[in-house]
Amino acid sequence: MSIKENLLNITNTLPDHVTLVAVSKTKPVSDIMEAYNIGHRIFGENKVQEMVEKYEEMPKDIEWHMIGHLQRNKVKYMANFVSLIHGVDNFKLLKEINKQAKKHDRIIDCLLQIKIADEDSKFGMSPNEAQDIIQSKALSELQHVRIKGLMGMATFTNNIHQIEREFKMLKQTFDSLKPLENSNFKPETISMGMSGDYQLAIDCGSTMIRVGSSIFGSRNYSN
Ligand SMILES: *Cc1c(COP(=O)(O)O)cnc(C)c1O
Repeated sequence: MSIKENLLNITNTLPDHVTLVAVSKTKPVSDIMEAYNIGHRIFGENKVQEMVEKYEEMPKDIEWHMIGHLQRNKVKYMANFVSLIHGVDNFKLLKEINKQAKKHDRIIDCLLQIKIADEDSKFGMSPNEAQDIIQSKALSELQHVRIKGLMGMATFTNNIHQIEREFKMLKQTFDSLKPLENSNFKPETISMGMSGDYQLAIDCGSTMIRVGSSIFGSRNYSN
C-alpha cells in the first residue's frame, strides 16, 4: 500500500482527541511530501541534524516534533522552529531549552519522558522526579518552556499485558501530577503508542501517537 493509503487508514480510525505524529526518521523528503500533500502536517524525527535539514527543505507550515533522546548541546540548532520536544528527561535539559527558546523569543512546548519500560536502554525519569520538577519553583522561573504532558515508550515485547501495564502507569502518572497555580505545566498530552501498539495505547488514555513504519514502511538503517 502507498504512504497515502497507510496514512488515511490510520487517520480515518483515530478518535478526535488523538493526534497523530507521523514519524519520518530516515525517510526522504519525497516520502514526507506524499503525506504532506494529503494534508498531514505533524512529523516526528529523532535526530536533530536530520530534522533541521528537512525543516529547511520543506514547507514551513509543518510542525516538527523531536521524539528522540536529546543532548543539551543540540538544542540550539532547532530552537527557532521545533514545535514539541517529547523526550525531556532531566531538568538541566529543560533549562537549556528555556535558554535557547528565549533567544528566539519563543515558548517551546515539551513533554517529560517517563521511563515505563523494563529495559535499561530506554531513557526517562521516574514519576517522582517528574512530580518534583512540576512542583518546583525552579520550573516556574523557566518562562520560555511549557510542559504539556508526558511521553513514554513501552518495552519492546510481544507481551501485551506488560505493554498495557506500562501504558496504564504512564496514564496514572499523568493523572496524579498536580500543577502549582499559574505554573507553566499545562497538562494536555500523553504521548504513547507506536505502529505496533497504538490502538492499545489509545485504549489506555493516549492523546498522541507516534507512528512510523505503519505509514512509511519499514526503515533501512544500513544506507
Ligand atoms: C521510531 C520511533 C517511533 C515510531 O516507531 P514505529 O514502530 O516505526 O511506529 C515512535 N517513537 C519513537 C520515540 C521512535 O524513536
